Amino acid sequence: ARLVISAFILPLNPTLEELSDVKTAVSEAVTNAIVHGYGGREGTVRLHATLYEDDTLRVDVIDAGRGIENIELARTPFFTTCDDDAERSGMGFTVMESFMDDVRVTSKVGRGTTVRLEKRLRACEIQDARRA
Ligand code: ATP
Ligand code: MG
Repeated sequence: ARLVISAFILPLNPTLEELSDVKTAVSEAVTNAIVHGYGGREGTVRLHATLYEDDTLRVDVIDAGRGIENIELARTPFFTTCDDDAERSGMGFTVMESFMDDVRVTSKVGRGTTVRLEKRLRACEIQDARRA
């Protein structure tokens, strides 16, 4: 997923920071789909990426897993349903929020979750300004 999203935005000449931010956020969302959505069972995680004319990137990370009961609670820093797992700190959504401009979560229990990540990539603007 990290490679795919990198390849998708590379034609825009993103800065290393933008590239790293987007990869990290997508990686958190995909990890959540695998670990929480499917909980070890087999399943499909879909990535739907769109690039708008104003260089805004939108990535939907979609799973058809167990869904989230209370989205607001799930997004609270340090909240995790994996208290026994030392690897989970409950910071995934917080990381996505800090690296992207907008994070929207829609979910239905038993049906699945979609995490919509958006970020305006300003690399082109910076390059244009340098050229001018
Ligand atoms: P960390 O990301 O720091 O390893 P975490 O995954 O528990 O820990 P978050 O990514 O912030 O923390 O997610 C918070 C909680 O939201 C999860 O513990 C889980 O209960 C729920 N959650 C997140 N994504 C999904 C998903 N795709 N399907 C079902 N539940 C989810
Ligand atoms: Mg997580």
